Amino acid sequence: MNQPSTLSPDTEPQSTDTNSSDVSSAKSRKKHSGVGGRDATSIPLPEKVNRKRIYYSYCLSIGAFHIAALLIFVPWFFSWSGVAALVIGTYLFGAIGIPICYHRLLTHRSFKTPKWFERVLVTIALCNGQETPARWVAWHRLHHHESDHQEDPHSPLVNFFWSHFEWLIIENKGTDKFDLYKKYAKDILQDPYYMWLEKNTYMGVVIFLAHGLLIYLLAFIGASLYYGLGMEAFQLASSIFVWGVVARVVWVWHITWSVNSLSHMFGYRNYDTDDHSRNNWFVALIASGEGWHNNHHADQSAATVQHKWWEIDVNYYIIKGFQLVGLASNIVPPMHKRKAARAKELASQD
Ligand SMILES: [Zn+2]
Ligand SMILES: [Zn+2]
Repeated sequence: MNQPSTLSPDTEPQSTDTNSSDVSSAKSRKKHSGVGGRDATSIPLPEKVNRKRIYYSYCLSIGAFHIAALLIFVPWFFSWSGVAALVIGTYLFGAIGIPICYHRLLTHRSFKTPKWFERVLVTIALCNGQETPARWVAWHRLHHHESDHQEDPHSPLVNFFWSHFEWLIIENKGTDKFDLYKKYAKDILQDPYYMWLEKNTYMGVVIFLAHGLLIYLLAFIGASLYYGLGMEAFQLASSIFVWGVVARVVWVWHITWSVNSLSHMFGYRNYDTDDHSRNNWFVALIASGEGWHNNHHADQSAATVQHKWWEIDVNYYIIKGFQLVGLASNIVPPMHKRKAARAKELASQD
């Protein structure tokens, strides 16, 4: 692990409003009751975790998908179309759904989109078999608020497995309450579609399953038009389903989970934030930029996490692409640009 540098994180005055995109690490630090922070080497589990209560539905679905994903090693299911479906799906559903929509758009409000497009992006995000928007946002804002302190829902200071996936399958009464979503994701719940998803959580599962079925049907129709109705079409559609849906969902889970685990364990630090966030090139590579996590913790509201020229942030380039076609606006610039703009504004008032 690299030693932290001495650069300070964003020192702009920021709101401690838990619905705000910027929960100041400096201010929130004062609120922590539990142990933790940049100097801690380990922390206990969040207070309301009950290790005896396991969410079996999560366990079963995570386990079943991992076992089914092993089909990629069966030659009958291999095709280059399947591999292409995995790569395209990782960006189309994974990158656009999770880091761009759930994280930068909804959690941190780093840019704006037309409301209809935001809802389309949320629907795409649901195709990753992750949480409803209100839960995802609430848990991530809680993570920033309590980062690497005891009430952080997924700190690796507990242990690697806890931060990677265990926190999802073990009861934590501190994170599974609707009150928490109302506190940390009030703005999300004000949207009737997102509230509807929260009140009918099975609909997230229905959308997720429907997208898998749709991909299979489209692949089968396409393959049948090319090969004719028969075993070849069935095999190709099955390959696209196994690689482009099952394996892709598992792969995107691990990408998201790695941001929580690896990016708080290994890598270098540009900023001396009060947590263990790190810039991890491997996670940045698989998560299309999200691994520059120390940059993100230091400057949470910026739409980009690229603070050095080589810290490539593909997610940001996609957001800029949305802007080019009129689907993104009010893109929040990095802190040095915000500070320069503020200084210019103040100077013009004098
Ligand atoms: Zn983090
Ligand atoms: Zn964040």
